This record gives sequence, structure tokens and C-alpha cells, in this order.
Amino acid sequence: MALNPHRTIAELKELRALTGNENGAQRVAFTPVWVAARTWLLGKLAELPVETHVDAAGNLWSTLAGDSPRALLIGGHLDSVPNGGWLDGCLNVIAGVEVLRRLAEEYSGRPPVTVRLVDWADEEGARFGKSLFGSAACSGKLDMDEAQGLRDRDGITLPEALRGIGVDFEKVKDSGVELKTAAASIELHIEQGPVLLDLDLPLGAVLGTFGVERHAITFHGQAAHSGSTPMNRRRDAFLAAGKMSQEIYRIAERSGGGVCTIGSCTTKPGIVTSVVEECRITLDQRHLDAGALATMLAEARAASEAYATEGNVRVTWERLWQIEPRPFHPELIQLCADAVQESCGTVHRLPSGPLHDSAEVCGAGIPTVMMFTQSLHGISHNKIEDTREEHLVQAVTAFDRLAGKVMEWILQQPA
Ligand SMILES: [Zn+2]
Repeated sequence: MALNPHRTIAELKELRALTGNENGAQRVAFTPVWVAARTWLLGKLAELPVETHVDAAGNLWSTLAGDSPRALLIGGHLDSVPNGGWLDGCLNVIAGVEVLRRLAEEYSGRPPVTVRLVDWADEEGARFGKSLFGSAACSGKLDMDEAQGLRDRDGITLPEALRGIGVDFEKVKDSGVELKTAAASIELHIEQGPVLLDLDLPLGAVLGTFGVERHAITFHGQAAHSGSTPMNRRRDAFLAAGKMSQEIYRIAERSGGGVCTIGSCTTKPGIVTSVVEECRITLDQRHLDAGALATMLAEARAASEAYATEGNVRVTWERLWQIEPRPFHPELIQLCADAVQESCGTVHRLPSGPLHDSAEVCGAGIPTVMMFTQSLHGISHNKIEDTREEHLVQAVTAFDRLAGKVMEWILQQPA
């Protein structure tokens, strides 16, 4: 039985039919539809010579034991955002099942190294507003105080939702034991952006995930009558904030590959007849290089202070969230590039703007790499998310090659 990427596509469609509707995928973590997706997956795994269990954080592990206990992890996530696409996350899981099938057949149930497929729990964070729950718990990086207080729209807390699937919140970090034998980790994902599409390439090797700095910037001016206040007498908080919106494009351009977004802007008093007294904007900055990210942040701070001084207003900063860049393992990036090159004749290396479970696995010190496949329209988290079927076939083929290369690489590492 050779690798059959067309079966992967058929199974992706099967899952879509089972867990989606006219608005897209509905596999939000810890909901009945997500449980149904897992049950479906268990049915596929039952045909393989694997041991399967759910860990202390609700992640599903399926292990094909090998001659060496050192393990290659293949990670993905069945969960989706509400009205999500048919490929985000589950492409990896289902391609991973196909790789397990190929390996089980080729090595009569016992490959040279252990191979473990993991379906991470709640990658998307769609319900509780916090991504990468299962992988963060497993890597030990989950902020327990913050996670404890998370609530969904109906007021249900994360610990309550976890209890519903038999997971004890207090023990979620016990899942870290699963990583003890991990020697390397690989993940296949749709790109979710337009880079490969614009280059007309089916696949790419991922260099790592961007570091993120997320801040709220508030300018404090003075409310004043919009008719009686001359322009030169105003302390206009919005004017300073508005200048920032152009500045971040210059900052991003100078950074060599970074991105900056002002995603929200609120004003007080927020009425048509008043100069803005207070303007709060949020700034999201991302870069693969920690030094470059720090420079982007410093430049934004300096600009905000200069515009505040210029406009006779005050500025304050508040950090909302931060994560360091997670550069992937150089040797695994090379193996991934080789696998892509052999499968489609050309390769492009690119960073990942979105975070993935692989960022957490990499942060736990496990050599990690991801492979991207092209996204049509450059869009995901939307029912129009799509990838050409010939690209999916190439993706599964190249990903299987990568698995083989990384297994050999694991055997070459000192024990
Ligand atoms: Zn995803």
C-alpha cells in the first residue's frame, strides 16, 4: 500500500460533510461537533497498529511504536473557528494519518523510530479568545492564572468546558510528559496568506513563526468645542494617533520583512462636535527576528512620543500581549526545503505570520519545522478557504517525504 494523497482529499471532504454546514466548518473546540470530528478520527486510527489516548490537556495522541523510542511528532488540530475553512489544521491531521498508514505498511507495523500523531486541543482559541491551549499546556508555557479566568460568550469558564470533556484544569500541564521522548516535530498547514499564490508555487518551507508585540497606545488631549476652538489652539488626541497610522507603514518597510497593524481606534468623547480628548489605538507588530521586532517597537514608541509633543498631548503605552519569534530548526528547514524541491522542482522559504501549535512545540526546545501549501485567494478562517487539489496531492507527498527524512535525521542524532 503506497501513500495515497487522493484518499487524504476524500477524507477531508468526508470530515467537511460531517462537521460543516453552508457557512463552513463548525469544529469549535470542546463542542459536540468537535467531539464528533474526534470520534471520526478515532475510527480512522482504529484501522492502524497504533496506541491512542487523550492526554491531561485534552490532546489526542496516536503512537506507532518504533525500534527507537525517540519520536517524530506530526501535529495538527481538528478544531476550527466558527464558519471556518475545510483545511486549516485538519489537513495536517488527516495527512498525518496517511503518513502513519504508509509507515505501518512499509515497516510491517514497526518503523525505525516511533511516530506520533497529535491532534492539539483548541488551537484556534475561537471560544475563549486564547489560541494554542493544548500545545501551550503541553509545552509548560500556559499562563494558568489567565487561562483559569477565561469565559466564553455564555459565561462558561475554560475549566468548566474542559470538565465537560473529562479534563481537569488543575492537571493540564501534566500533559508535558508526552514531550519527553519527542526528538523532532513537523506540521503541514495551509499558508493562510498570498505569498505562495503570488509566486505561483504549491509549497514552501517555513522558517519559523513571527514574534508578536501587541500594545494599546492612548493619546490624551483635551475636549473642546469644534466650532469655537481655533485649529492652532487644539490638543487633538486623534491627530497624533492619525499620524501613527502612516508611520507604521514606514516602520514595517524599514524592518525588512516585518508587519504592523493598527487594528482598532476608539475616541472620547466620540461626538461630532468635539475635538478628541482621548484616542486609544492598538498596535500589533510581528517579525521573525527578535532584534528587528525590538527595533520596530522602539521606533513606534519614539514616533508616538514625537507626535504627542508636536500636538501638545500626552501618550501612554500598555502591553497587551507578547510572544518571542520562534525560528525553526535550521537542519529541519533544509530537510523540508529538500522534500519540497524533490516533490515540485522548486522551493521558497517563508516565515509564518500566524501562530501555530508548532510555535509552542519549538518553544519547548524540540527541533521543529512546518511546511506550507498554497492558499487560493490567500484567505482562511472563512468558508471560501481553499487549495487546488493538485497542490494538496503535492503537499501530502512532500510531507510524507519530509517525515522520512526527519526519521533518518533522528537516527543520526546522538542519543
Ligand atoms: Zn491552523
